Amino acid sequence: MNSDPRWKVTVADTTVGPEETEAVTEVLASRWLSLGRRTRAFEEEFAAALGAPDAVAVSSGTAALHLAVLALGIGPGDEVITPSLNFVASAEVTALHGARPVFADIRSPDDLTVDPYDVERLITPRTKAIVAMHYGGYPADLDALRAISRAHGIPLIEDAAHAPLVPTPSGTAGTVGDIGCFSFFATKNLATGEGGMVVARDPELLARIRAMRSHCLTSDTTERMRTGGAGYDVPAVGLNYRPTELSSAIGLVQLGRLGRDRARRRAVTGIYRKRLDLPIPFEARPDEGALHLAVALLPPGVDRGELRAELNALGVQTSVHYPPSHRFSYYRDRHGSTRRALPVTEDVAPRLLTLPLHARMTDDDAEFVADAVSTGLRRATRR
Ligand SMILES: *Cc1c(COP(=O)(O)O)cnc(C)c1O
Repeated sequence: MNSDPRWKVTVADTTVGPEETEAVTEVLASRWLSLGRRTRAFEEEFAAALGAPDAVAVSSGTAALHLAVLALGIGPGDEVITPSLNFVASAEVTALHGARPVFADIRSPDDLTVDPYDVERLITPRTKAIVAMHYGGYPADLDALRAISRAHGIPLIEDAAHAPLVPTPSGTAGTVGDIGCFSFFATKNLATGEGGMVVARDPELLARIRAMRSHCLTSDTTERMRTGGAGYDVPAVGLNYRPTELSSAIGLVQLGRLGRDRARRRAVTGIYRKRLDLPIPFEARPDEGALHLAVALLPPGVDRGELRAELNALGVQTSVHYPPSHRFSYYRDRHGSTRRALPVTEDVAPRLLTLPLHARMTDDDAEFVADAVSTGLRRATRR
């Protein structure tokens, strides 16, 4: 994604390099391409890094969320509360099973994570899960959300796609709720191309998720190869959400590099905070999260589209995280969610701008982006 000559600095990039090439080459030479010892090692090392007893590697973050919804038995008539300012994955895996995503507001322009008070207001007898998303790698208020989840007996799912290995006052992100879902998509902090991971507090729930990852077969290919047996039963429905050994091998290398990558993200974020003349959400928080996204809040009256065009012209790629889900035509039309106002999301979402942040950026790149934003703002406001 950095090979496009148009961009001087891209929004995201991956740190994959010679170590990943070597790891992938080893997998190819072994000729064992799916669900083998590298995947098991990746699960064990990821779980250990989180402080979780075990983890299940899957083929994407969406697969992780889908397995969470399936494992909790969410179906027609049920409701799942999720922030509207979120990637659409948790809403879609809910809607896919005839359940209704109920969109919650965020806390404030300074903290874009889901508002626990709003979550509690939205609970009905049909609520079957609450999704907490750690926006940009900054953990949602897990203490409050866990208290609500326990008081009402409703499972808490953590969408930790932005937050691998993030300490919170209640435990590592992903391990506080009942189920934690991670993504290793190409733009994420730990990137394997496509991939994901699931953790769960209840070992039986995690065992169910592990089984569903591979059709709920009672014996897998590895076992049948080892024992020579061909028989298996299918006691429940499942899917194929298996990761490849190639992606798990990349994941093991990336996991080892996460700390170093985060230090680079920290340096870039520090430069933005010093140099940008714009409010930066989360800036006041004492914790740094995973430093997944660098998001700025544009003053009212700045045309975001124009500013983005100015930045494009200067070679700076930008993005928007996220167009609010309750505004997407599918959710608006089918779930009637526009009837309920989400005042903070409505105010903030049109003004959010995601700037480049990745571990290949130099300090000079960050300075360049900061200068480009100043120039772009001047031009976009003058018109
Ligand atoms: C990336 C992402 C997902 C989906 O993960 P994939 O691996 O792309 O399927 C879900 N939720 C959030 C918040 C994400 O950023």
